[in-house]
Amino acid sequence: MEQRMQEQQMLTAFEDALKSERIYPVYQAKINHGTGRMIGAEALMRWEDPVFGTQYPSDFIPVLERNDLIYRADLRIFESVCRFLRKCLDDGAFAVPISVNMSKYDIYRKNYVEEIERIRKRYEIPVKYLHIEVTESSAVGGMELLLQVLDQLHGYGYLVEMDDFGSGYSSLNVLKDLAVDVIKLDMRFLSGNIGGRGGTIISSVVHMAKWLGTPVIAEGVETMEQADYMKSIGCRYVQGYLYSRPLKEEAFYEKLGLLEHEPMRGPIDLISTLNAGKFWDPSSMETLIFNNFVGGAAIFTYQDGRLEVLKVNKKYVGELGSNMTEQEIISSDPWDCFDEENRRKYEETLKRAIETEEEEVCETWRTVCSKTCGEDRLCIRSHIRMIGKTEIQHLFYAMIQNITAEKQRYDSLYDSERRFRFASEQINVYAWEYDISSRQMRPCFRCMRDLHLPPLLENYPEPAIEMGIFPPDYADMYRDWHRQLEQGVEHLEAIIPLTPDRVPFHVRYTLERDEAGRPLKAYGSAALVVDN
Ligand code: C2E
Ligand code: CA
Ligand code: CA
Repeated sequence: MEQRMQEQQMLTAFEDALKSERIYPVYQAKINHGTGRMIGAEALMRWEDPVFGTQYPSDFIPVLERNDLIYRADLRIFESVCRFLRKCLDDGAFAVPISVNMSKYDIYRKNYVEEIERIRKRYEIPVKYLHIEVTESSAVGGMELLLQVLDQLHGYGYLVEMDDFGSGYSSLNVLKDLAVDVIKLDMRFLSGNIGGRGGTIISSVVHMAKWLGTPVIAEGVETMEQADYMKSIGCRYVQGYLYSRPLKEEAFYEKLGLLEHEPMRGPIDLISTLNAGKFWDPSSMETLIFNNFVGGAAIFTYQDGRLEVLKVNKKYVGELGSNMTEQEIISSDPWDCFDEENRRKYEETLKRAIETEEEEVCETWRTVCSKTCGEDRLCIRSHIRMIGKTEIQHLFYAMIQNITAEKQRYDSLYDSERRFRFASEQINVYAWEYDISSRQMRPCFRCMRDLHLPPLLENYPEPAIEMGIFPPDYADMYRDWHRQLEQGVEHLEAIIPLTPDRVPFHVRYTLERDEAGRPLKAYGSAALVVDN
């Protein structure tokens, strides 16, 4: 029969319970919901009283804390865990990292970390098998102290997990200031349905944690729906009754043998030139730049073909002309806007950016859909650069420009009379449009296809000369044509041997003026000279 003990009964029984190890750990597995493998476990304290039966932490831990006894119970648990790990390692079979809880009162004990360190050494447990869970409420007594303890733990090599994140104390600033290695997000603190407000909180925490490069474990996961939801927002580590209740040592040992294990994945390794961590800090220069100076920009990860947006700035939303909020963009699947062909094109660009570690550019069409405006097709030019990577995940920075209007102008050129005039149906006629003030050249589709030109060439005619389309001995003449067009010469033509193969073409330019009569554009064409 289990019965709750009174405070005085506990205090009387404590010494004996400690000595005879009736205060002992049970183990609850932490699982990768993506693979079903175990990544570690948490040790949870139990008190088995010969008279009153099993006692749970919520009843006895406050009593021990009040009476300054908790550190002794915590050290008992730490030692039992070390002994268990020693057994696992000696059996040469399986061992996973086990996290041990540290009470906020342990923080006040000067020698606490040294004491656990002594125990660990006595059992010769490699430090990677021991994690320490601290709660954010430990910061209440003073951030300074907690920071010192974290430093000390890190100094010895312990990974520190921030327990009960989301329980109320934690502001995201605490997260930023405390160098914790893992965040535990308790599903039970987030009331209501996960699709609603709770879900938004969870997903923003997960995104921010990722932004800091910190893995997240969802705890208190009881249903498949919760686990799937967490996975869908990129948090695959779960702990809860869904996979396993806390088990006594023997039962857990058996489970260890049955389940496969894998290590918890570390944080994303940020490429050093760009301190992406600072992008998250609202007061940093990087954030200031991100929000104000770079135009539309986004940070996203790419893994197993999946894109996940971590952060966008206001101008990004503006470029899309979308009435979605930044948060809505973050929580939607970016691929939803892409058709197959454009998705392939975009993914190829990502792969190039991974390979070259340089900025890569692509233009893709996306269909955006909004409740108020309906569907819209947008052409987006993206400048993409990889800024971080792990073995399986890449972090990207993308700047975007909405070039739909530009594209449509270009398309309509070919829908109009000009299509007839410049991209005539006969084969071997190439056409292009030259904008006099900007020196931009837009080639026709045939040029793009046959000569592999991009849709827009800057500083024309230099690129055509560099590419050898116009041969070196005609370069100066061709440059001079463009000066003449600028000065208002109406018409230019010549037979020019084009490409390195020196194929003779009849090349022509016709000038177009604006309403004030100033030179605006010139239409160029090159027709193959056919011998009769
Ligand atoms: P905690 O560290 O957040 O531990 C998780 C608690 O959630 C455990 O309760 C666990 O049994 C329970 N739990 C796990 N999965 C589920 C689930 O799917 N649904 C629900 N409803 N509950 C789940 P427990 O063992 O009663 O421990 C309660 C708290 O007592 C712990 O919360 C921790 O703050 C504290 N505690 C436990 N062991 C220790 C210890 O060794 N030292 C110290 N200082 N505190 C401990
Ligand atoms: Ca815990
Ligand atoms: Ca917890």
